[in-house]
Amino acid sequence: MYDIAIVGSGFAGSLLAMIARRLGHSVVLIEKGSHPRVVIGESSTPLSNLLLEELATRYNLPSLRPLAKWGSWQRTYPHIACGLKRGFTFHHHVLASPQPPDQNPQDQLLVTASPRDEIADTHWYRADFDSFLVEEAQKLGVEYVDQVALRRFADCGSEVRLEGQRNGQAMTFRARFVVDATGPRGFLHHALGIGERELQGYPATHALYSHFFGVRRLEETQYSRTGEAPPFPIDDAAVHHIFDGGWVWVLQFDNGMTSAGIAATSQIAAQLHFENSGQAWDRLLNLIPALHEQFATAKAERPFIHIPRLSFRSAQVAGPRWALLPSAAGFVDPLLSTGFPLTLLGVARLAEIIDEDWGSPYLDRRLDTYATQTDHELLATARLIAALYANMSNFPVFTALSLLYFAAASYSEAARRLGKPELVSSFLLCEHPVFGPECVRLFERAQRPRAKTESAELIRDILLAIEPFNVAGLGRPGRRNWYAVEANDLLESAGKLDATHDEILRMLERCGFQPGASSVGN
Ligand SMILES: Cc1cc2nc3c(=O)[nH]c(=O)nc-3n(C[C@H](O)[C@H](O)[C@H](O)COP(=O)(O)OP(=O)(O)OC[C@H]3O[C@@H](n4cnc5c(N)ncnc54)[C@H](O)[C@@H]3O)c2cc1C
Repeated sequence: MYDIAIVGSGFAGSLLAMIARRLGHSVVLIEKGSHPRVVIGESSTPLSNLLLEELATRYNLPSLRPLAKWGSWQRTYPHIACGLKRGFTFHHHVLASPQPPDQNPQDQLLVTASPRDEIADTHWYRADFDSFLVEEAQKLGVEYVDQVALRRFADCGSEVRLEGQRNGQAMTFRARFVVDATGPRGFLHHALGIGERELQGYPATHALYSHFFGVRRLEETQYSRTGEAPPFPIDDAAVHHIFDGGWVWVLQFDNGMTSAGIAATSQIAAQLHFENSGQAWDRLLNLIPALHEQFATAKAERPFIHIPRLSFRSAQVAGPRWALLPSAAGFVDPLLSTGFPLTLLGVARLAEIIDEDWGSPYLDRRLDTYATQTDHELLATARLIAALYANMSNFPVFTALSLLYFAAASYSEAARRLGKPELVSSFLLCEHPVFGPECVRLFERAQRPRAKTESAELIRDILLAIEPFNVAGLGRPGRRNWYAVEANDLLESAGKLDATHDEILRMLERCGFQPGASSVGN
């Protein structure tokens, strides 16, 4: 009998398995496929890398620390394929309109996440990344069993029996506690018949994606803005191409591979015939000249995958002797790369519960709190993304709404790096007594039809709402939608973080920022 059975060996399952071993528990990690295998979900953020670093430090997992920054990753694990992510790039398009090469700067948003490559974020090439984590988990004594078709979860009172088959042979795993890390509509969703809950007000969306060889860099096409140096190379980013009803992501890896796909409303999916996969992709490229040029010599490296129901909210997140990771409890959209930080926050919370309340009478109460937090954060993310979808044809409002995300994310990162996690206990600050409810109101307003003057008022109100948390100079006139990372922005915002000037300087030094530097021209 194991203390903990973790089902699903994506990065999150393996990471939690390693932590549980470090906490002294026996762990079995059960996978239906085998590594290396391709999964989607690749782009990290400053907050997700910080959470990874915090977990690696807290639970003594030194082999994971280099993966939290591009520079240390390159030096330590050059064989694990990776992409350089200096920030978020957004381009706005009107479908089927010819794009002049020198386009309006108001149709572009660049938000820098890190001031230089060394400490930058990354795209995780998941086939390599997840294989590495499974191997590390095994080195720590996690028992890993792959190619298992689990069928049944039987609660036998003080233990759970997981029943299934491997290579035609019946298999049973006995454990005191089960964590489901199998993703949306995964193992326990089926085995326990857990229903789905509606994500109210959220549009029905689809995704269509593949991995490609031979994709050019956007900066080498005539689409690239000429004349000025952007705050970071626009392709070294999570690149978002926004159009009315959907968006395209492009993530470039250092092994010649590019991950790209479309997330879009069901109307767009029907218009483009997503069910025709590659043809639907080509149809979209024909409507966006910049992408058409970028993908002119590209070849899909594997068959396209069409997910017809992209968003998901589980009706239950935890129960007696089981819990879903956030990535199994729900999903909204790849927009803004929210999946990793939500998942890592869940891993951190479950790890803390296992550490502090394993076998205690408070375990179930702690799991209830975990379930409520997980669901609240999913709903907050869905409200944000729904408001963004509703404004994909109105890029100034889309930009302002995204600043709510960037303000909350940069404030959270800075507060945690200053050792003040109590300032930022929830994702998107959704449980903050002022910011949380204000975001709900703004997201609702953003989804209602508006006159042009009302859009200007909405943008003004969004900028007012972010101001108490704005530590990154967001929305400042003169920055024209190009946001570099400026040490001065943080220094001037010390009071918002309950910090002194000196504390900010020391924090910048600790995380390799090199105060005085900015990301411009790097
Ligand atoms: C199209 C798309 C794009 C995304 N892009 C991003 C992004 O850029 N950034 C970001 O932060 N997030 C993104 N996400 C979300 C991201 O994919 C997830 O947050 C992340 O993959 C969660 O990791 P995980 O290890 O929990 O689960 P997964 O990576 O989904 O791994 C689950 C594992 O469980 C195994 N499994 C499944 N069913 C069973 C079963 N019954 N029994 C045993 N094993 C099973 C699978 O084989 C797999 O190995 C994206 C999601 C989608 C759908």
